[in-house]
Amino acid sequence: MTGLSKEILIPRSEISRRVQELADQISRECAGEEILAIGVLKGAFIFMSDLVRAMAVPCQTDFIRAASYGAGSESSGNVVITKDLELAVEGRNILIVEDIVDTGLTLQHIVDHIKRRNPKSIKVCAFLDKRKRRKVPFEADYVGFSMDDGFVVGYGLDFNEQYRFLPDVYVIRTDVD
Ligand code: 5GP
Repeated sequence: MTGLSKEILIPRSEISRRVQELADQISRECAGEEILAIGVLKGAFIFMSDLVRAMAVPCQTDFIRAASYGAGSESSGNVVITKDLELAVEGRNILIVEDIVDTGLTLQHIVDHIKRRNPKSIKVCAFLDKRKRRKVPFEADYVGFSMDDGFVVGYGLDFNEQYRFLPDVYVIRTDVD
């Protein structure tokens, strides 16, 4: 029999402490600027809402969604924007808010897509970073937590659309009896 089990990786207390640190850092570095925060759906929706409420700089919000088609669960590189921005980007300070940077392919595509619209500046804030799994060189400007391997759920992140609502981050394991 094969089943799934999950184990807490990052408890909610540590998440809220780290989110506040990120928000403080962004607020310091962007003091005096107006930000357009762009959340990458769906995984970043909870992180985005916590982050913008903890920041001390005025910001507007928008969302974008990308899909990556290919075999298996890994990003294929064929990234397509399935929900585009509604607000104008030109001349604005953009903060892209993402759940996880894994291969880097999704964020690379989203950053290129937004750059073509001539923003004043672009920064990326990722809740989690799986640095060792990159297929393209991509560095986020702000990272909540770094992790090695494993598949995580909770705090907006799903497994087949389940578990997004969980307040803590869990790592999922496949158990073979
Ligand atoms: P990348 O293009 O960087 O490989 O893919 C990033 C996307 O893959 C993330 O935005 C996220 O949706 C998904 N992803 C990567 N690793 C995980 C994981 O451990 N858990 C979940 N739920 N999604 C992941």
